[in-house]
Amino acid sequence: MKDSNTYSELFNKQKANQFYIGNTTYKERIKKLKKLKDAIEHTNKQAIRDALYQDFKKPQLEVDLTEIYPVIDEIKFVTQNLKHWLKREQVSTPMALFGSSSYIINEPKGVCLIISPWNYPINLTFGPLISAIAGGNTVILKPSEMTPNTSKVMSKIIADLFDENEVALIEGEVETSQELLKLPFNHIFFTGSPAVGKIVMNAASKHLTSVTLELGGKSPTIVDETANIEKAVGKIIYGKFTNTGQTCIAPDYLLIDERIKGDFVKSFKKQITELFSENAEASDSYSRIVNQKHFKRLVDSLEDSKNRNSKVESGGNYNVEDNYIEPTLISVLDEESQLMQEEIFGPILPLKTYKDLNEAVDYINSKEKPLALYIYSKSKKNTDFIIDNTRAGGTCVNHNMLQYLNHNLPFGGSNNSGIGKSHGYFGFLEFTNQRSLLKQHTLGAVDFLKPPYTNLKQKLVDLTIKWF
Ligand code: NAD
Repeated sequence: MKDSNTYSELFNKQKANQFYIGNTTYKERIKKLKKLKDAIEHTNKQAIRDALYQDFKKPQLEVDLTEIYPVIDEIKFVTQNLKHWLKREQVSTPMALFGSSSYIINEPKGVCLIISPWNYPINLTFGPLISAIAGGNTVILKPSEMTPNTSKVMSKIIADLFDENEVALIEGEVETSQELLKLPFNHIFFTGSPAVGKIVMNAASKHLTSVTLELGGKSPTIVDETANIEKAVGKIIYGKFTNTGQTCIAPDYLLIDERIKGDFVKSFKKQITELFSENAEASDSYSRIVNQKHFKRLVDSLEDSKNRNSKVESGGNYNVEDNYIEPTLISVLDEESQLMQEEIFGPILPLKTYKDLNEAVDYINSKEKPLALYIYSKSKKNTDFIIDNTRAGGTCVNHNMLQYLNHNLPFGGSNNSGIGKSHGYFGFLEFTNQRSLLKQHTLGAVDFLKPPYTNLKQKLVDLTIKWF
């Protein structure tokens, strides 16, 4: 970690530069975003792939699809819309304020801090950076220490494209994050666990810094009796085992109508072998757990469940030498098992059955609001019932994770799974202040109502309340 003075010096440089950056035009901001796009899509594409392979054997296709594509797509969307978002928007003015006109200005927040996690380091560091640049901010980025090779590539990209008084990337451990959090940023955008989210919010409160918290939690997946089981299994396997389940919006646990459990398990065993062969460890399409700490956490949860009368339906093996855990489906009976208490964030999928939908909904509502809730069903009645009687950051019906990819949808959690939203216009709003502007052109009503208060003025106020 560097000396804390280094961080405050950097912060002060960005603070001094904030009006220059904040007054850049939409064309200048688009130019910067296009340079970033080129750096990711062309100049550094192979370096990004190599780094993610070194960090946790992430397959190239997954890097392209889940790291590079969402960032490139976000840049395209933002550059297409930024001119419109930055326009001073005129809004109507009530009659009581005659003689004036009203506007909303999306002004930059100022100096921003982005703290990102390791599981999709490119996507979750550069994604919010795009919104911050669009908003006209200066930015300090602090990526996770757990994917050091990817952090190095990102650091090079940022140093190649920006002066540090505009965008700077600081590599470092938790202590680095803690030092940065002492500074009076104008906005902090944090992606990570709910536990660290609370630390970030606490630190932000010292300066009344606004926060966006993109957190995690246990995202339930309901499969009802009407669902197409084969299709549901295929999609759930994809959602759960991409990135080895190390995805904030991966299905965390299954709630399945007890009448279809047998067919679900049978189809799971068949399809998991088709996707990853008999031995997923030898498959080029399956990554590893990021490090020993997370490997141990996952294996401990698995063993804890096994000791609590759970039944491994498929998988269950692991290899400590390689941080490998087999794609695993496990029927869990004991509610106290760690798998049902903590966010799993790995390739273990617990399954619980329910007798009727009320039971499933009550179970979901007994936990914190999830980041995502998935429903597999052909019944509109069941789907609507679940949506109306639960709360979640986002929902996808008859698929999972796709809600993340539509820039017209806000992405984020609710309470324990997050505060604020990202992507597209919603991400841009997090990094801007909606400044209200009222311009008075002629004498207005209030100018006639100054002291001394006469009977005539009282009558005017009465009329205003009644008619305007
Ligand atoms: P994490 O909370 O441990 O770490 C995230 C970042 O915070 C890292 O950069 C880390 O250095 C920093 N950090 C860690 N401890 C800190 C502390 N005590 N003080 C200050 N900073 C600290 O999360 P992680 O393990 O990197 O990622 C996994 C979590 O992130 C999961 O809960 C997952 O659901 C969540 N997540 C959420 C989203 C989303 O978009 N909502 C996306 C990805 C991951």
